Formats: sequence, C-alpha cells, structure tokens
Amino acid sequence: MRSTNNNSSLAYRDIPSVDLVMREPAVKAAVVTHGRHVVVQELRALLARQRSAIEQSAEPLYPSGGGLVEALLNRLDSIHRLSIRRVFNLTGTVLHTNLGRATLPVQAIEAVAQVLAAPSNLEYDLDRGVRGERDAAIISLLCRLTGAEAAVLANNNAAAVLLALHSLARGKEVLVSRGELVEIGGSFRLPEIIEAAGCTLREVGTTNRTHWQDFERAITMQTAAILKVHTSNYAISGFVATPRESDLAHLARARNLPFVIDLGSGSLLNLTRWGLPNEPTPMQALRAGADLVTFSGDKLLGGPQAGIAVGTQAVVERLRRNPMRRALRLDKGRIAAMEAVLRLYLDPDRIAEHLPTIRALTRSVDDIETAAKRMLPVMQRYVGELASVQIAGCASQVGSGSLPVDRLPSAALRIESKVCTDEDILKALRALPIPVIARAHKGAVWMDLRALDDEAAFVDQLRLVAPMSPA
Ligand SMILES: *Cc1c(COP(=O)(O)O)cnc(C)c1O
Repeated sequence: MRSTNNNSSLAYRDIPSVDLVMREPAVKAAVVTHGRHVVVQELRALLARQRSAIEQSAEPLYPSGGGLVEALLNRLDSIHRLSIRRVFNLTGTVLHTNLGRATLPVQAIEAVAQVLAAPSNLEYDLDRGVRGERDAAIISLLCRLTGAEAAVLANNNAAAVLLALHSLARGKEVLVSRGELVEIGGSFRLPEIIEAAGCTLREVGTTNRTHWQDFERAITMQTAAILKVHTSNYAISGFVATPRESDLAHLARARNLPFVIDLGSGSLLNLTRWGLPNEPTPMQALRAGADLVTFSGDKLLGGPQAGIAVGTQAVVERLRRNPMRRALRLDKGRIAAMEAVLRLYLDPDRIAEHLPTIRALTRSVDDIETAAKRMLPVMQRYVGELASVQIAGCASQVGSGSLPVDRLPSAALRIESKVCTDEDILKALRALPIPVIARAHKGAVWMDLRALDDEAAFVDQLRLVAPMSPA
C-alpha cells in the first residue's frame, strides 16, 4: 500500500478482488448477457476508481462492496443501450431535422433490410452478368417522375449542390441574387458551399430586389453558372422583386451558361391537391428552363437522406463524370430505400396512405382531434395531480425549411401545471422509455399529435410507466 494513512489501508483491504465480484450471481448473469470481456473490463475500471477515491480522500466509493455490483450493472446497461433511439416527435414540426426528418414507409424498410442482410445486385446487371450502375433504377424512376432527361444522386442536397458547382464552375464565378444567400440549419451556408466547391460567389442585385437585367450586367468571361436558391426557411416581403425563372433560363441559354436551381425540399407532388400550400416542384423548375435542379431526399419527398439532381443530359453528364461523385455517393441501404419510396410515387392517388411524411401533412384536424380525445385520459393519468391536460388547437409546420410561413391547423394535448415548470414536464417526457419530444409555448407544454404515427405505442408506454413525479 502506497498510503501511510491507517484508515485508507483498511479501506484498501475492503476492495474486493475481481474474482470475488465475478462470482456474484447478478454478475454471472451479466456475463451471460454481455460476454465476459466487457464485464471484466468495466469491473476493473470501477475498482480502479475505488482505489483512487481512497487515495484522494480515504473514503471508498462503495463501502465494503455495497453498491459496487449495482454500479457495474448500470455501466453495462448504459454501454449496451443504443444512444440513437426512437422518439415521439410531438413538436409540431413534421420534418424535424434534429429528429431525423422523414420516416420511411414499410416498403422502404423491407427493401433496406433485404439488401443489408444479404448480397445484392447493387452494381451487377443480372441480365447480362456484367458490372452495372448502382443508381440505374432510381435514375430511370426520377426521369419518369420529373420529366428530366437525366439524374444523379449524392449524399444529401448540400452534396448535390457542391457536386454541381464543382463540376460546372470550378475556378470560375457563380452568379447568385443577394436575396438568396441562405443559411440552412447552421452548417449549410450558400457562400461557404460555393467557396468549398472552388468557385467564386458573384452577388447580384440587392437583398429585397433583383431583376434579370442585374444578372445580364453581371455576366463576364469569368461567369460559369447562374444559381437560383429557393429561400426555403425565410420569406422576404414588402418591396420585393425576383427575376422569373424563365427569364433567367433564357438569359443563361443565350450566354451558353448552365442555369442551376437549388430547390431545397422540392416536392414531387402538387401539394395543393390536399389543400396544402404550394411548394415549388422540380417539374416546374425544369419546365421553366432550368438545366439542373437539386433537392433533398428526406424533406418533402419523404425518403432517406439523399441529394437529387435532375436536369439535361449534357449538364448531368458533367456531374456524373466528376471524380468527386464517388466520394459523395449513396450506400446500398439508402439506394434500396429511395427506390422503394420513388415507386410509391407511381401511384399518387394512394401516396398519402403509404408515405408517412405525406400522411402526416395531409391528416385532417378532425382526425387529429379524435386521436387527442382518445389519448386525453391516459395522459391525464400520467401527469396525475401535478398538472391538468386539455385538448387545444395549434398549428403545425412542415419543417426542414419547406413552406416557412405556412402553418397547418392541428390539435395538441396541452399540459399546464402550477407545481412543475414547463422544463420539468418536458424533461419527464424526454425520460420516458420512448422519449417524447414536446414544446413549451405560452406557459404550457404542447404535444402536437399530427406526426404521431404509432398511437398504440404512445398510449401503451403511458399506461405502463409510473405517473410523473415532482422534479
Ligand atoms: C435543406 C436545404 C439544403 C440542404 O439539404 P440537405 O439535404 O440537408 O443537405 C440546401 N439548400 C436548400 C435551399 C435547402 O432547403
């Protein structure tokens, strides 16, 4: 013993041996569950902490073994519990970037499971028995659905924009309106993407008003592309003007420049058929004369994370030839998921039944209110005496930058308490086995039920847990 302190040498003697602890029945059971290696490793780490606690304060962390086994089992549990888990998104934002955006339909989940669990013909042509293209099926679906001549895929929309600019304008200038220099969720800032692609940003017009003639005047020998960005997460109103896409397309064609539109979300459907606000589609952008249109796979499209670029054969070919495409490509799981999701679009009349994103966005207030009535008693039981729960009207938003100013009428369970703070309630909800993510607003906690797809699981967990306790 290093210490000369008599108490601490006694305390050292209390530290059990690894072998002794390993013989405890609970620890033997943990070995069966987790394997011997990690149990011994964690136990050694705990005993080392015990020793250094005694060295520093002569006080053992676990007096005469008490609590040591429990601490060990807790550590093993936390190592084995996945840190990424399912949650309930009751924030009122349907496509919540922090909560993983779009959720996939069963058709896509099955497709992913199949290709991840077994070898697949990912890059193999079954007809001819030779090497094939991994994205051939998706590209033909995309061309069919958007009317584009060609398409290319990337890791996400940011990657699609990067690939487009790098392929079309590296070492040269890209013209963008000053009203469209967007930042999306902190990490996508258009000026920075342009720079990262090796291009120079040439700002055109003013923040509120830009005309196509401003673009015409800005074109020089150095210009390599005109970029239009859908200002998806904000709206400028008042004295404003933006050039028509068809005017920019004309100008670009006359000067032999590619005209690229970053749509951000880009729905493949006309959402107004369900009474939803209009969101620009890639089809409209192509018809207006864009050479290339980029959008996300996991926003309004409702698929896996991906970046999609559709456009003319000539322009898309320049992206396909860029060696950087290899570094930005999709893995087989997302390719399978994307193909399954795009197939659902072949039957637009039933897409709201099959695709969770569209289902959530098109749910009627009546339907959501009826669900709220079913859930009210079980929620009231859960909050117990600490709070009261009511059904209240609220407004959901699409999220992920789509339709930034439009709100969808919805219904929420609203929890109000005189005893707990909103933060206490939010925290208790997050601590449930399947965490519930709600929102504090105007002195209450709101749970917008629009995006709740699995009501049964939500109700079951509230029935099974102990009522909320005071913080
Ligand atoms: C969301 C968005 C992006 C980034 O798309 P990711 O798929 O998240 O990379 C780029 N541009 C616009 C206009 C967007 O709305």
